[in-house]
Amino acid sequence: MAKINFFGVSRGRIEVICGPMFSGKTEELIHRLNRLDYCDAHYLLFTPKIDTRSPRYATSRNGKKLSSIIISNSNEILKYIKNKKEKIDVIAIDEAQFFDKNLSRVCNYLANKKYIVIASGLDMDFNGKPFSTMKELIITAEKVTKLKAICSICGAEASFTERTNINSKKQIVIGDKKIYSARCRQCHSLSKKMDFPK
Ligand SMILES: [Zn+2]
Repeated sequence: MAKINFFGVSRGRIEVICGPMFSGKTEELIHRLNRLDYCDAHYLLFTPKIDTRSPRYATSRNGKKLSSIIISNSNEILKYIKNKKEKIDVIAIDEAQFFDKNLSRVCNYLANKKYIVIASGLDMDFNGKPFSTMKELIITAEKVTKLKAICSICGAEASFTERTNINSKKQIVIGDKKIYSARCRQCHSLSKKMDFPK
């Protein structure tokens, strides 16, 4: 097994992968974790219990799977690491927007303890409002990668998520292509609703 200087000089850090739905966030997370196979580093991958689409694996839309630990709240990450006998270098979190507001504190604590934390999640909801968990993470992250999808209307790069075929105003409704699509700014319904700023 090759042992490379994967961690550089400053080891602990937070990396965030964000963007709209269908932008390849989980693929990017899996890609970064797969690279660890080439060096002497070990990871744990956590996903929230609320995400019922993939109960035991983080699954990207191209079908790649990595086994993940399903947890109900962010403090469970700390408990899990404490009880783990093997050395862990990287803590990965998928669908981070679904976690409680304590996630940012947990991630910063871990980064301060020299873990590499990689969190992937939606930055905005269907109304263009930030998921507060992601907002907190992004401002304290060393590295933020904002991915783009393709607008389902015009084919331009898309940074927004549109909710269709459902009337709920709840911020979190679990779903896939049946109720969500990626949109560019101009094709998102918000661009027609927004008033002149006062
Ligand atoms: Zn568009």
